[in-house]
Amino acid sequence: MSEVDERLTEGVRVAMLGGTFDPVHLGHLRSAVELREGLGLDRVHMIPAALPPLRDTPQVPPEERLTLLRLGIGDTPGLVADPRELARDGPSYSVDTLATLRHEIGAQGRLVMALGHDAFLRLADWHAPERLFELAHVVVIDRPGHAASPSAPLRRLLADREVASAEALMAHPAGGLLRLSLPTRMAVSATQVRRRLAEGRSVRYLLPEAVESRLLSRGLYRET
Ligand code: ATP
Repeated sequence: MSEVDERLTEGVRVAMLGGTFDPVHLGHLRSAVELREGLGLDRVHMIPAALPPLRDTPQVPPEERLTLLRLGIGDTPGLVADPRELARDGPSYSVDTLATLRHEIGAQGRLVMALGHDAFLRLADWHAPERLFELAHVVVIDRPGHAASPSAPLRRLLADREVASAEALMAHPAGGLLRLSLPTRMAVSATQVRRRLAEGRSVRYLLPEAVESRLLSRGLYRET
């Protein structure tokens, strides 16, 4: 079978990178680009949570966070600013979002839920964590300053799902776990960006210029 035939029977390769994106920064965007390259993905859907279940309500409304995400992505090939969680009421559960993506790409499509190591450590507390693995693979991205080991409940959830390579992961539509060390690791966080803006300090080179311009011109995050 040629590589093209294999891709046709295998279906598309799609990842979801969910988050608060409060605001989007270069750590998110560079990770999404390298994730796409590393796994040979057709698209990475970057999906802002309207109401993140496990954290305080963000101070900037979801529509504005989506606008900033769109500006940040610009014309980057393969990255999509996906508004689907903004249309739903109630908490933004990833399992519901993955179900809609699975429906769109079909049973043979490869679906990945990507998340940073900090978010991964809380995975066992998420809504319907077992179901996440029925719908998608989980790919954990290394993040500087977040190296703690998984808790016992998380280790039980992961059982023997871990695989060693992108090829092994992509051999199946869902159900695997891969830890990925991307070539560029950035210590930038949205917390750091918000703090700097509140203190009137520079955020240059932490986020795309178009995002910085909008944040500054609208005075976003100036008040804590
Ligand atoms: P905050 O500082 O407000 O907690 P954050 O910078 O972690 O925000 P989120 O929107 O919560 O940003 O993150 C969305 C996803 O992107 C999460 O899975 C998170 O682990 C991951 N992520 C965020 N920043 C980075 C980074 N610098 N490198 C790799 N992954 C990241």
